[in-house]
Amino acid sequence: MPTPLEALHSTFGYHDFRGRQAEVIDRVMAGQHTLAVMPTGAGKSLTYQIPALCRPGTALVVSPLIALMHDQVRSAAAAGIKAAALTSADDNRDETMRRFRDGDLDLLYVAPERASTDGFRMMLDRAPPLALIAIDEAHCVSEWGHDFRPDYRLLRPLLDSYRDIPRLALTATADRHTRADILAQLGIPDDGLILAGFDRPNIRYAIAPRDGIGKQIAAVVADTPGPGIIYAPTRDGTERIAAALAKSGRPVRTYHAGLDASIRAANQKAFVTSEDMVMVATIAFGMGIDKPDVRFVIHAGLPKSIEAYYQETGRAGRDGDPAIAQLFWGAEDFARARHRIETDTEESRRAGERQRLNGLGALVEAGNCRRAILLRHFGETPPSACGNCDNCLNPPASVDATEVARKFLSAVYRTGERFGVGHVAEVLAGRTSERISALGHDRLSVYGIANDDEQALIRPVARLLLANDALRPDEHGGLGLGPAARAILRGEESVPLVMQPKRAPRSRKNAQDYPHDPLFEALRECRRELAKSQGVPPYVIFHDATLREMAALKPRSRSELATISGVGERKLDAYGEAFLAVVRGG
Ligand code: ADP
Ligand code: ZN
Repeated sequence: MPTPLEALHSTFGYHDFRGRQAEVIDRVMAGQHTLAVMPTGAGKSLTYQIPALCRPGTALVVSPLIALMHDQVRSAAAAGIKAAALTSADDNRDETMRRFRDGDLDLLYVAPERASTDGFRMMLDRAPPLALIAIDEAHCVSEWGHDFRPDYRLLRPLLDSYRDIPRLALTATADRHTRADILAQLGIPDDGLILAGFDRPNIRYAIAPRDGIGKQIAAVVADTPGPGIIYAPTRDGTERIAAALAKSGRPVRTYHAGLDASIRAANQKAFVTSEDMVMVATIAFGMGIDKPDVRFVIHAGLPKSIEAYYQETGRAGRDGDPAIAQLFWGAEDFARARHRIETDTEESRRAGERQRLNGLGALVEAGNCRRAILLRHFGETPPSACGNCDNCLNPPASVDATEVARKFLSAVYRTGERFGVGHVAEVLAGRTSERISALGHDRLSVYGIANDDEQALIRPVARLLLANDALRPDEHGGLGLGPAARAILRGEESVPLVMQPKRAPRSRKNAQDYPHDPLFEALRECRRELAKSQGVPPYVIFHDATLREMAALKPRSRSELATISGVGERKLDAYGEAFLAVVRGG
């Protein structure tokens, strides 16, 4: 049996463990139960794959989605790991069970509902002892988590009948409540928790108000080569955006609940194997997508919560290469969300929902580091600037808009809390119209009290006040005062307004971070052909980072090639000659 470090080098071709991988692996190797909470892209799979290779017996991996299991089996197989999944979609189940009983598998993937059956337990009893039991997406066991799956609760008896087999629970998202619950539900001691930081340093966060969303999206997409996801709030929205993007020549697909299941599956498959496709989708898309080379995630509207935003943007850049998370939002998003909270939400949940929305308001309106806000939200104490978000790269100017905000709120109040931004702005500007005089709004004390400079700030101020809950919309778009209005009107709260740069900062990325290199392109072409002939996505063969290192080092021999990160023994045998030939020819 190799040691974990030997397996890291020989099977995966990686030089070092990353982050807290080594700690997790050490615990599993020592037979200890463990919960690893690590962000997407941290390399959770490695923490059970390596003990699977280094401990006697097969590792059982419980996973909630068939697509996820098949991705994992494929990647493991490409690295020379003996892996199989036992699901209704696999017709080689008999063979898999035989291999399992014969001790011919390193990894066996299974869904929780199958793992908890008596039949499965009997099979385990007749097979050699397990190396470990990994429980992937372990937050599914907790009702506190965002994705409770009752089947996960049924695993406990199975775990307890193999008390001596180390169990390793893994998840990317779990707040304090959920973590405690996972430990309790799966019988893992409190000191078995390994909590890695939430930061995803290679993701560049940028947030801007919508201002011609079609053009804004087109600009990010044009600047960012590689596969990307665009989240739109509605099915119609996805189709509109996709139709507009298709004209740019970039391959585009959509994914939403209105599409036939077979079309959804085909679109997802096309996206997973593509190197440049844009997927325009509702949030129905993403769970179970394990595509490491997603280069951007764009939100065309406000996400549900900071947790949802973190999870959705987290699908970018799992391979560690630079990636973009761009969010576009509008005052209407807040108006709609507030309205939903006040009318369609159970009384008992309203306070929590308001808090969630206010958290988003603070994030989108901030003039300081976005990453710091996100990380503080997850309980960390990050540095005040990250150097890789829109506000750190292009610090926006801030103006004191307290006076304008007070004038606006008074005008909302004086006009009876039932008009939209446009009308209130006209009153403040002192415009004349039949409607204004018919309503008598030209006789109000607030009529014409905003000067030209102030008038220019009215729309952004109204957007800010909506995001801050100082304004509340009714169902017709009329504005009323919200709970945060009072302190502003009394002069107890000031209103600093962040002036967004006119155009969203261009997403300087791959194109500039990595200058064009013909050898790199030739290596990608080689990868594309191999991927096509083997029916796997290109990233299963090598990641971009591995090809970039090849292009830089220009290895002349197998042994030189073997020093490159990501080139393990199996891949060296399978693909080494093909890539060496490209380097020699280049
Ligand atoms: P997670 O499940 O935590 O989102 P994955 O297990 O999919 O992350 O790993 C993300 C990527 O990082 C994978 O492509 C994996 O091969 C790579 N990776 C994992 N560990 C290392 C490491 N120690 N060095 C280099 N790359 C790694
Ligand atoms: Zn920052």
